[in-house]
Amino acid sequence: MTLSKDFPPVHAPGSGRSNSKPALAESGHTRFVSLGQQAVGQQTVGQPLVGQPLVGQEPQPIRLPGTDCMIKPQVPLTSLTSFKVGGPAEMYVAPRRIEDLQASFEWAQTRGLPITLLGAGSNLLISDRGIPGLVVCTRYLRYSHFDAETGRMTAAAGEPIARLAWQAAEHGLSGLEWAVGIPGTLGGAVVMNAGAHGLCTADILVDTHTLAIDGTLEVWHPDQLNYTYRSSKLQAHTSLAAAEAIRLVTQATLQLQPGGDPEQLIADTTQHLDRRRITQPYHLPSCGSVFRNPGSHKAGWLIEQTGLKGHSIGGAQIAQRHANFILNCGGATANDIFQLIHHIQQTVEQNWSLCLEPEVKMIGEFHLA
Ligand SMILES: Cc1cc2nc3c(=O)[nH]c(=O)nc-3n(C[C@H](O)[C@H](O)[C@H](O)COP(=O)(O)OP(=O)(O)OC[C@H]3O[C@@H](n4cnc5c(N)ncnc54)[C@H](O)[C@@H]3O)c2cc1C
Repeated sequence: MTLSKDFPPVHAPGSGRSNSKPALAESGHTRFVSLGQQAVGQQTVGQPLVGQPLVGQEPQPIRLPGTDCMIKPQVPLTSLTSFKVGGPAEMYVAPRRIEDLQASFEWAQTRGLPITLLGAGSNLLISDRGIPGLVVCTRYLRYSHFDAETGRMTAAAGEPIARLAWQAAEHGLSGLEWAVGIPGTLGGAVVMNAGAHGLCTADILVDTHTLAIDGTLEVWHPDQLNYTYRSSKLQAHTSLAAAEAIRLVTQATLQLQPGGDPEQLIADTTQHLDRRRITQPYHLPSCGSVFRNPGSHKAGWLIEQTGLKGHSIGGAQIAQRHANFILNCGGATANDIFQLIHHIQQTVEQNWSLCLEPEVKMIGEFHLA
């Protein structure tokens, strides 16, 4: 497989290209309300778009010039997130090639629209009012290559990380078994520093490529990404950001251990999945762990000790099996989940004098009751 088929040459950050040092993400018309340490964007949705049809006419899909890629208006995002809640994307595109990504960025920039990047949507709470601007979904950026000799695996951002974990095992490569229960993309894992069972993406990342508005592909190494627990520098460049600030992860290379026995590795991977299915509620929509663990404490344990397990707001409930999970038990709105997150934060703070910081990314407009 040719890895570079759709991918132009890359430049290391600081290698002389004009925007090799990313600016901080910002949206000119965003106000922020603090919920713990995570900023929740407040935006006006439904503003008329520059260049869109006049009032009274249905907005139509737009073909990006020179590509076979369509930008679609008012696309529901409910089915594109693991919580299964939230409103529509004002505009939505799901490119398959780098050229289409670039054309999408330029299209948004010309119209002054903010951009939000969407992987598998497994760590997102999207407002019931939807996301203003252009949502760029990465899940159709696909390819993977496993080198059984060196142990290196290179894959496109849209590859599901759980699928890569199974494939790595089949190739006799160990070191990714922990990722089998994570329902996100490789790109999302690089940005979120996804991890499990004491291991995380930063531990095995060799490098990652990001795409900027001018088409520059930058190569980043882990020591440049300020990796900490479930956090990276890239998170500031991914949602409701001006096109100039966006850094889209296009691919990543992971260093795995070669020479393993595929049968044994498949058995180990299965064991990881089984263990998660016992300890975590996979039967209903969620975003996985809602809060980061504060220091040496487990967020789930702190929540459980406050007696909140099973507590509901609307269709959203704190899981009985794992108190750091909020479940959509049917008919939940994003606002129900938002209110429940706030309630947990308040209760834990009253009991433990600790502020739980959300791991889930909240995008769009939310209001406290
Ligand atoms: C049942 C369940 C279990 C989970 N278990 C775990 C777990 O064990 N460990 C763990 O760490 N997480 C876990 N998660 C959370 C989630 O799966 C991870 O955070 C995952 O890495 C998110 O990937 P994603 O593709 O879904 O990203 P999304 O949720 O789509 O996006 C997350 C963030 O990354 C940005 N982003 C996504 N793709 C790109 C890209 N290509 N370039 C730039 N920015 C991008 C988005 O803008 C957003 O800011 C779990 C979630 C669920 C639902």
